[in-house]
Amino acid sequence: MNLKFGWSRRSFLSMLGAASGSLFAGREAKGSELLVGEHEHSLSKIDGNPIVPITTGLGSTGDIYAELGVKPLINIVGTVTVIGGSVMKPEVMELIRRGNEHFVLIDELEVAAGKFIAKLCKSPVGYTGLVTGGAAAAMVVGYAGMMTEDLEPRLKACPDVTGFPRTEVIIQKSHRYAFDHQIRQTGAKLIEVETREEMIAAINPRTLAIHFTNILSDKGKVSGPETVEIARKHGIYTFNDASADVPPVSRLWEYPAIGFDMVTFSGGKDICGPQASGILIGKEELIHWALMNMSPQEDRIGRCCKVGKETIFGLLKALEIFVNQDYDATLRMYDARAQVISDAVAKFGVKAQPREFDPQALGNVTPSYSWMIDSSKLAITGHEVMLQLAATQPVGIGSMGADSGGMRGRNPDANSDKSTAKAAKPKRAERAAKNPNTFGFAVWQLKEGEDKIIADRLVEIFSAAPKA
Ligand SMILES: *Cc1c(COP(=O)(O)O)cnc(C)c1O
Repeated sequence: MNLKFGWSRRSFLSMLGAASGSLFAGREAKGSELLVGEHEHSLSKIDGNPIVPITTGLGSTGDIYAELGVKPLINIVGTVTVIGGSVMKPEVMELIRRGNEHFVLIDELEVAAGKFIAKLCKSPVGYTGLVTGGAAAAMVVGYAGMMTEDLEPRLKACPDVTGFPRTEVIIQKSHRYAFDHQIRQTGAKLIEVETREEMIAAINPRTLAIHFTNILSDKGKVSGPETVEIARKHGIYTFNDASADVPPVSRLWEYPAIGFDMVTFSGGKDICGPQASGILIGKEELIHWALMNMSPQEDRIGRCCKVGKETIFGLLKALEIFVNQDYDATLRMYDARAQVISDAVAKFGVKAQPREFDPQALGNVTPSYSWMIDSSKLAITGHEVMLQLAATQPVGIGSMGADSGGMRGRNPDANSDKSTAKAAKPKRAERAAKNPNTFGFAVWQLKEGEDKIIADRLVEIFSAAPKA
């Protein structure tokens, strides 16, 4: 855009830098000084920001994790928040840095970002987007917005919804999940139903919306399109939580096109945006009300759902890259990573199993790879291999036994301890128990070169394993 005016971005910004420098120096900048300034800047600065080698304090050893005494991990689990979700691409990091260059009216930036999202995601006419502090935050501000509309007394009162006309949210019993906490925290009341008939019968003048948990679609009796049809007939809203359900990328446009009033996707899962970001796509009026309920607005339930300018730019770039990616090439890259591992372990008689991949799965659509240990050669189980991978130093491989739900509170009722322990048990351990000679994992969140690190570590593990 700057080129239109005959300026390169670099020279425009270094002029700004030189001009403000001259203000502080109390003298006028001349043309020649601008040129000198630009050359100086190109050596030590990018777009006016210094690139600083860190020589003292945190970061000065080059290993920030070791400085804090925290063990970093290689992610063979997936886009789970407890270990950091996903990592950003260099272009995303660059946009984050550039987003930090200027102050801006956050609401103005949000509205513009929303239009960018709607265009990229081919949203229906009358829909726009919003960058939120995660999909869970999108649920908070989305539901709050449906209840408060743009009425200041309600915006201030939420989550005390006393006197609000519509506060009931219908949800299929099978769609209840950990994130319905974000609906309840707005003061809305969940009404559980099981069948289509019960759903229709539950609608009354206090009904606000029907919540749809996309990942649990196959567990429910009422489909997404049916939910939308029922809600439309009765003049109530619909919200689809599809947080972890891209790829395939087409879901970004398919779900709003079904007619859901609002749909959320995590920015920090496979979209690989900033970890604490999310996208809310919905009807313009509803998105406006959602924004009215969140930061930077004050005295709002969503003041704690803050997104910064840098997060907004980072998310937009990540989404752009995600939408434009060649997914077949991405799949070939995943296969190539698994092949590096298969090739390295083959000499121990450890065989690659056919990859498991369901491109139409409801969520976390990605291949998973597994390998079979020849128990006539090696006396080590798949579970033991996974434990040894997790114990790898100085960088662990795996999630070190952490469950995707995070930390559990103490249960003061001793009788319930069993169920808590069961809930916290990772699914993979169950699978391994069924098939003790296999081990497997996902490779989609590996960074460049980590396939080789895992392969080398597996060679170490199998070299040291007792012979059968
Ligand atoms: C991950 C997830 C969320 C929360 O998303 P964040 O972006 O981490 O806030 C909500 N719902 C479902 C189904 C999820 O998988």
